[in-house]
Order: sequence, then structure tokens, then C-alpha cells
Amino acid sequence: MQGAPLLPGLIEPHAHLDKAYTVHRSPPQGPGLLAAIEASHADETHWSTEDLRARAERALQDSLGAGVRLLRTHVSWFAPEPPRAWGVYRELRADWAGRVELECVNISPLHLFADADAVDRIARHVAATPGGVLGGFVHTTQFSESALRHLLQAAAAHSLRVDLHADEELDDRACGVASTARIAAELGLHGRVACSHACALSVQDPSTALQTLDAVAAAGISLISLPSTNLFLQDARTGRTPRLRGITLVHEALARSIPVAFGSDNVQDAFNPVGRHDPVAALELAVMAATTGTSSCANGCSGTTPRPIARRRC
Ligand SMILES: [Zn+2]
Repeated sequence: MQGAPLLPGLIEPHAHLDKAYTVHRSPPQGPGLLAAIEASHADETHWSTEDLRARAERALQDSLGAGVRLLRTHVSWFAPEPPRAWGVYRELRADWAGRVELECVNISPLHLFADADAVDRIARHVAATPGGVLGGFVHTTQFSESALRHLLQAAAAHSLRVDLHADEELDDRACGVASTARIAAELGLHGRVACSHACALSVQDPSTALQTLDAVAAAGISLISLPSTNLFLQDARTGRTPRLRGITLVHEALARSIPVAFGSDNVQDAFNPVGRHDPVAALELAVMAATTGTSSCANGCSGTTPRPIARRRC
């Protein structure tokens, strides 16, 4: 080995293969998450089986080259029936067996889960998919406690794991992570739920945010931090340098023994025009975005994630 480090296969905990490598044809028309979502919707007219497969193959090849052996992708899903991409990735999972294990998570707007019948249909499709994980998009613009409860109840009923895009925003009223922790604890989903992003914790009143993290720890929820997309989208406004990082409270989470992972998230799409499918690159960025400069606890953290001096919009 001539002194080279030998690592186990890497895990990519959060990717979007259906959106990857599309920024050249569908750039966002403005800054921020909602403009990126609009551009991504517009790109869906290109999502033929061939297009989805070709871009996913490229992402898997890049990931394999970076040492990835398991990749979890979120898949846009807007109706009770599965989208075309879901079927494409089921085939790819079989094609790539032994190289990269592929897990698929539906990312669906929360209002879709308002209808208990639709929830059950989605959950059945996900449960019938090897490597299937139940997901959703939880955001203040469309928050519904009952819909979130339906989603988590369906996970319990079908013995599914859950991965939510939760509180990917800087609105300090966001309550997706806190609500998920409370309901998941009630339903006994310990160890089966992950919250991705959780940016809003970084701008909330510290006592509120830490109380939420206590509940997350008690409910056995993991956090997945996605520095590249958060740094690009959060606090983004035309003509003004972003002040806020949108990085969730990783040190405070580690201090509570909450499992924390970093992922690549979007790569060369409307949500992130750069980036690559490489967990080591994601970790490098996390070091720069979330470091405290020193390590003092057993988990390598010193207890506080850097936060902006001015947390509110000025
Ligand atoms: Zn994502």
C-alpha cells in the first residue's frame, strides 16, 4: 500500500440522481430554494427513461470512483403512483448490485400525505421496493401536522425507514424536526427516522433549538447535514452576500449522541450548480462550514456550531 490509507466503502447518505447534471439546461431564474424547485419542475419535461438512466449511471460511476458502496437518492414523487424515475432506479439497483447499493426515498410534498388513502398507496409502493425509504418535504410553506402524522403512521404500519427533507429554511418558526421527534417517539420509530437539512435550528432561539435536539436524541432520530446545497441556497438573495450558513447544529447534536452524517446532496443542478458525488469532498466542506477550530469532546466536537452574529434578516 506504500503508506496509503485503507478505508471501508463510503456511504453517500443523500443524493438526487433525478436532478443531477441538469443545470446547463434548466438553470434557476432567481436565488434560493423555491426558485430552484421551480427550475427543477421545468426540467422534468426532459425526464425520459433514457435521460434519467444516463444521468443516474454517471452519478453512480462518479460515486463508485470516489469509493462509495451505498448511495441513498431522493426521488421526486408528486402523485400516489410512483414516478418514472422510481422504476428506472429499481432496475439500476439490480444492475449495480455488488458495486453500489442503491436506496431510494420518495421526496413528496407534505400535502400529498393529507389523504390517508394516498399515503397508504405510496407506502405500499415504497415497501415493495428493495432499499425503499419513505420520505417527504417538510417546510413552513406547506406544514401540516396531520399529514406528517399520516406519513409517520404509514412508516410504522409498513415497517419502513423514514428520511425527511425537514426545515430546509431559515424561518425560525419551522417546526418540522420538533414535530417529527414528538410523533416518532409516540409511534415508537426509534432508530428508523432521519431528518435531512434541519437548517432552521441554526437560527432559532438557542433554548428552543436545544430542546428540539433533546427530543431528537430521545426519539433516536439521525441528522443528515448537506453543507454544499445549504451554503448555496440559504440566505441567498440577489445583490447581497449571504450572511447565514444554514448548517444544522452538528456539534450540539454530537454532544447528545445523535448520529450525524454529511452528504453531497445536489450536484450540478438548479439547487447547486457545482459539487460532485464524493463524500470526502462533502466532509471537507463540512469541516470548513461547521468547524469550531478545536476538538475537545470524544466525538471531536467542542460543543457549539458556529452561528451568525446577526441571526435575523436586517
Ligand atoms: Zn435533498
